[in-house]
Amino acid sequence: MLPRIVVVGQGQLGQMLQQAGAPMQLEVRPLDPKADSELELRDDDVITVELEHWPDTARGLQLKQHPHFLNATALHSVIDRQRQKSLLDRLQVPTAPWVSLESGFLSDQLEGLSEQVMVKRRSGGYDGRGQWRWRSGDAPLEEWAGECIAEAMIPFSHEVSLVGARNAAGDKVFYPLTRNWHQNGILCASLGNLPEPPEQQADVEAWLSRIMDDQQYVGVMAMECFVVNGQLLVNELAPRVHNSGHWTQAGAAISQFELHLRAVADLPLIQPEVTGCTMMYNLLGRDWQTDWLSVTGAHVHWYGKTVRPGRKVGHVNVHRPSTAELIDSLEDLKSRVEPEDRAIFDWSLQQLQNR
Ligand code: ATP
Ligand code: MG
Repeated sequence: MLPRIVVVGQGQLGQMLQQAGAPMQLEVRPLDPKADSELELRDDDVITVELEHWPDTARGLQLKQHPHFLNATALHSVIDRQRQKSLLDRLQVPTAPWVSLESGFLSDQLEGLSEQVMVKRRSGGYDGRGQWRWRSGDAPLEEWAGECIAEAMIPFSHEVSLVGARNAAGDKVFYPLTRNWHQNGILCASLGNLPEPPEQQADVEAWLSRIMDDQQYVGVMAMECFVVNGQLLVNELAPRVHNSGHWTQAGAAISQFELHLRAVADLPLIQPEVTGCTMMYNLLGRDWQTDWLSVTGAHVHWYGKTVRPGRKVGHVNVHRPSTAELIDSLEDLKSRVEPEDRAIFDWSLQQLQNR
């Protein structure tokens, strides 16, 4: 008998978890944790999350207090950037140099870090929100004290992420590193299964294993990294399925969504087979174009949300057996997207041509 999986949150991640459960008739029920009413939960339900913050409403508390609410420890450690950075330091996982902004001498602390600094709200930020760039000489904002941490600005050549999963027995599996491109702090595109250096893959797997084991974590976790002179520094952790893992829906035999369900429902957790080459193009405030479906290898995932400027309303995965074929498909898709999005394809094509 399979357990029912209750997902805290009703966004696209919950929706895609539900879609991944459907072929196995695994019941996945995303729900809104903000509602005041309590729910009828069964004792054998498994509670997992697609978001990290929700209020202590009657339902919000009911979910957190359920006997099978997973990963309370990891959520506590990760949702606050200061605790997250301390966890990385304790586990000796390399990360961007940082300081806590608890004391009143903000200028001194920021000056000591680097010429340019990224100030980040300790909690609640996403898609680059709750972040400020600070340069030596700028006046620090009052409200930063205590609420924020500051990190050295990292002159990275590119960004990668590792998506992996752990089950209750401690078994772990990982996808190959994903190469990511952000604009204004928002993920625009990912490339899955590029041949990244094997030593980088080994390092990040060792770090994420250490983190998941330390936190007794169950499910999919993502780890974003900066690459500087070939060395990796961890940027941040996401204790859930992650946008940079969406390419696995097309490029792997087991998607990150199915992998998460397998881990939390205690189903066999096997190494997902990855084939060919995949690009994920995020649809940020774009209208539905049936034209996307004319591109060989393209799969559209539309989230059914109201379109607003910059809002993540869907993504397109383009999967082909070889790099040369993926390049053909991306050239084709590039000619069909909004002119502002062509830079996303230029970046992707450049990465593929340089490999
Ligand atoms: P997400 O939507 O992934 O949760 P977020 O809003 O939590 O993102 P970060 O991942 O911390 O924020 O930052 C978003 C992006 O901003 C990074 O992927 C990177 O491109 C840039 N960035 C963040 N911190 C730094 C840094 N210390 N140095 C250079 N660039 C940075
Ligand atoms: Mg991030």
